[in-house]
Amino acid sequence: MIPKEKIAEIRSQADIVKIVSEYVQLKQRGKNYLGHCPFHSEKDPSFTVSPEKQIFHCFGCNEGGNVFSFLMKIENLSFIEAVAEVASKVGIALPAMVGRPGQNKGEKDQLFQIMQLAKQFFEQALADKAAQATQEYLEQRGLARPTQAMFGLGFAPAGWDNLLKFLIARGVAPENIAKAGLAIARDQQGGYYDRFRNRLIIPICDQRGRVLAFGGRALTNEEPKYLNSPDSLIYHKGEILFGLNLAKESIKKSRIAIMVEGYFDLLTPFQAGLTNLVATLGTALTTNQCKLLTRYCDNVIVAFDSDTAGSLAAERSVELMRTFELKIKVAILTGGKDPDEIVHQHGVASLKKCLDTALPFLEFKLKRIMARFNLSEIEGRAEALQTIAKYLNQEKDVFIQQEYAKLVADWLKIKPELLQAAIAKLQSYAGQRQGKRQARQTVARPQSKIVEAEKNLIALAVFDPDSRTRLAGSLSADDFSLPETKEIACLLLAKDLTDQAGLAHFLLENLKSEPAKQLLSRLLLSEHLSDLAAKALITEDCIKTLLQQKSSHKITDLKQEIMAAEQNGQAEKVAELLNQLKSEIS
Ligand SMILES: [Zn+2]
Repeated sequence: MIPKEKIAEIRSQADIVKIVSEYVQLKQRGKNYLGHCPFHSEKDPSFTVSPEKQIFHCFGCNEGGNVFSFLMKIENLSFIEAVAEVASKVGIALPAMVGRPGQNKGEKDQLFQIMQLAKQFFEQALADKAAQATQEYLEQRGLARPTQAMFGLGFAPAGWDNLLKFLIARGVAPENIAKAGLAIARDQQGGYYDRFRNRLIIPICDQRGRVLAFGGRALTNEEPKYLNSPDSLIYHKGEILFGLNLAKESIKKSRIAIMVEGYFDLLTPFQAGLTNLVATLGTALTTNQCKLLTRYCDNVIVAFDSDTAGSLAAERSVELMRTFELKIKVAILTGGKDPDEIVHQHGVASLKKCLDTALPFLEFKLKRIMARFNLSEIEGRAEALQTIAKYLNQEKDVFIQQEYAKLVADWLKIKPELLQAAIAKLQSYAGQRQGKRQARQTVARPQSKIVEAEKNLIALAVFDPDSRTRLAGSLSADDFSLPETKEIACLLLAKDLTDQAGLAHFLLENLKSEPAKQLLSRLLLSEHLSDLAAKALITEDCIKTLLQQKSSHKITDLKQEIMAAEQNGQAEKVAELLNQLKSEIS
């Protein structure tokens, strides 16, 4: 446990704008900073950071909180880990072992440690005589010792239990070795055996450099050629980009990431000095990987294999990245089938040339569409025209749309007006449909007065001690109807809160439910309340609204009780309830 005062000290020393800026490009807008949300995909920035309040909130997806919540979300940390991370950033020393308690290590921490030990084992094994074939293989692929060391390459010896023995001797339980994906349980006899045997080993790390998994390349003709760790508590295949831990600085600097497919497509150019690379490892690109990239750059050059599968993968990846704020180009590789081969055979300058002449993704995509049709026939060209019109219709930038329409018209040897007319026809149809939808939406649900009053009261009470005292004197948490406001009120009205300055952060750090945290960060960044001069008046008004609501509930209850008592012939009780009702109404 870190003492409360220490947490407050760390928080007060941290600058949320500076820390968020390591992940999101922020621009100042008035008092606040604005950027593209790292937690959801958006075209227009709605991710807001307040230096004054040291709070962030995304008005698009509702994520919000303080500097600790931000790091917890974006780096997948526990609260204590996030506090430790901020402490190290602002140079506050924490008592040793805080966040890394020796005995009660979280299961994740255990797995991280096992992977680290396994990496050491594989690296040592690569220096052994038994690894001679692997060393020769690496030499033949042109990977020098320093590169091998930088990426932590290793060797899994032949045999069934080399790694198991090594780890068990260091006190690791076999079932945890299996949980880390390094051993497999035997079906019948019981016990375990090593997953990786007689393979070149490549560690797969997260962006912070922690080993999450391994890739193992066969050295003989054994299948599969590449064997990867299965998903585990710490490894989810679609969430990491290979090489990002070593490439992120140069990606940040250049604002460009070059995306390749395989391990060696990254290793070989990296060794030759082209270091802003990441590899998808042959799987389909995921939204998580895109989000990860948007933290470091805004330009991506896709350099996938030049075969059909590679082009298809590039096309899919590009379509996905397009929904993020990433400018994408696709490199057409010449002089080799993949980046590894090009650099190995012709040098890194050849690869750079391919990258420099990469096509903007729209041009690449349109060429791919064209290639599907038989353009020597009129029918084929007509179909191509319609398909391309549909595709260009999705492009929001009118200038880009028009320019590409001209380009395609040139390819199809038709007048640009023909293609532009086809696009315009699609737009007028879509416009009609949208008009209908909007007409339906104008019948909006009226904002509930009660909910508004509850939200306003919470916001006022957080900023203004007088409002909080007034609230505590008139209402209890039970008088709030919305689950979120009830939860916040419950904490807010706890009697022993004296530290008004740290109140907002206390709430953000102690609320249990995600919706309550999201509502609070939204309220905290809603300007209209924190700046109001007439706080006392509004507080009274909101309290009145809630009291009226409370009273009307009570009246309904009393009326029902009276009816029940009358039916049961309880005259005395009826009289008493009637008195209560009278005083409630007056
Ligand atoms: Zn968002």
